[in-house]
Amino acid sequence: MSARVLVVDDILANRRLMQAKLEAKYYTVLLAESGKQALRSALHDQPEIILLDVMMPEMDGYEVCRRLKDNPRTRHIPVVMLTALGDSDDRIRGLEAGADDFLTKPVDDFSLIARLGALNRYNAVTTELRKRESTGKQSSAFTPEELDSLQQPGRILVIDSHDRQAEFVAKALREAGHIAFTLKADGSAEATAKGKIDVVFISLSQQSFDPLRLCAHFRTDQATRAISIIVSCDPADQDLAGQALGLGASDVITSPVIAEELKARVNTQLRRTRYVDILRQRVDRGLELSVIDQLTGLYNRRYMMSQLNQLMRRSAMGGSPLSIMSADVDHFKRVNDTHGHEAGDFVLQEFAERLKANVRPKDIVCRPGGEEFLVIMPETSGDLACSAAERLRRSIAGDPFALPNGMGEIDITVSVGVATIGGEDDTVSDLMRRADEALYKAKFAGRNRVESIAA
Ligand code: GH3
Ligand code: MG
Ligand code: MG
Repeated sequence: MSARVLVVDDILANRRLMQAKLEAKYYTVLLAESGKQALRSALHDQPEIILLDVMMPEMDGYEVCRRLKDNPRTRHIPVVMLTALGDSDDRIRGLEAGADDFLTKPVDDFSLIARLGALNRYNAVTTELRKRESTGKQSSAFTPEELDSLQQPGRILVIDSHDRQAEFVAKALREAGHIAFTLKADGSAEATAKGKIDVVFISLSQQSFDPLRLCAHFRTDQATRAISIIVSCDPADQDLAGQALGLGASDVITSPVIAEELKARVNTQLRRTRYVDILRQRVDRGLELSVIDQLTGLYNRRYMMSQLNQLMRRSAMGGSPLSIMSADVDHFKRVNDTHGHEAGDFVLQEFAERLKANVRPKDIVCRPGGEEFLVIMPETSGDLACSAAERLRRSIAGDPFALPNGMGEIDITVSVGVATIGGEDDTVSDLMRRADEALYKAKFAGRNRVESIAA
């Protein structure tokens, strides 16, 4: 898995060095020597990760980062800032500008590769979600609700067996407006975290239990998998930090923990998990929009066709029967003409409800368009489908439809055509044609009837 990394540094030697390190690990490297170039490349080349030098003439790294994060078309790209050794002010400024991570110069190979690995994992999730989302053609700008969710305080669980250290961390987070829980690390930590925690802070330098095992647990349990894990460790314990990152920790902070750095890192993690949440919700909504008919909540024609194709194939292989019923409201045009389009819509909605109430859970109820409905009935013989259709016909004709807002009641009837899968070479269009013919026969014979056509 090779990601494209954009390296931004005004000094040629630095660019070359970083390029060599990255290419040795099979990353593809893009180069930029100024902030301006970096912004252009980010936009056009859409790299997976940006390594950004802070000290540059004209536009410094903070400004570049801010602009990247302000632009909806580049804000998803993780930015790692390269800062001077040990200057914690620099790091904090970078994180505040929206940087996702930072590395101190000179960059040691271990940290570089570990950080990039963690960012790659995050990218794998967001890229997939963004790809699915973009098929829905939604705008990538945040809606007011999404912005609101990004700004909610975080819920953070602090696990550190040194009580004073735990309290220090929790206090710093509360000062930043978050909700923080401390907890002596033991088995109940996982239980407490399920469902309601955004970030877990775990100190790696405690003795009373194995913090790495806890990291692994959080990552593998379905209920806690989405939670970000920030581990703290002694600068001498790089191996431990590396293992934690390998097990899926999202970030490492060196101890003693500096309050400002902690807050900035927690904010970064919160922003990321919420961004993933937002994308996931957009994808769900997009999927829903693409298969659900908005007026009735039934499946639309597109979904109907995909299900019909799949079920036909399965039915042909397994030999179990498959039936469909095509139902069309009788003289529906009159409803619109007499009572208005709104009343017509209402009748369609009520019709959809009665239709759903008269079929089995495994039947797939669709509204391919207008006042036509189609039910796909797996494992259903023609006889069974006809009796279901008859039940539907009676439930429509038996009770008048009450219109909203005191507009009175109207009698509605429906005609239904039923068809059942025939031989092995029967196709979806054959099946639908027979259902249509049966429906036509029902209309011709006076409506408010069920007819079927044998294969
Ligand atoms: P038949 O018994 O032969 O089926 O007669 P009909 O009037 O039901 O059939 P026709 O196909 O002539 O008219 C269907 C009408 O349904 C025409 C169209 O304006 C209306 N219609 C289609 N979709 C909608 C909708 O979403 N809402 C409303 N209110 N009307 C719709
Ligand atoms: Mg009709
Ligand atoms: Mg019609």
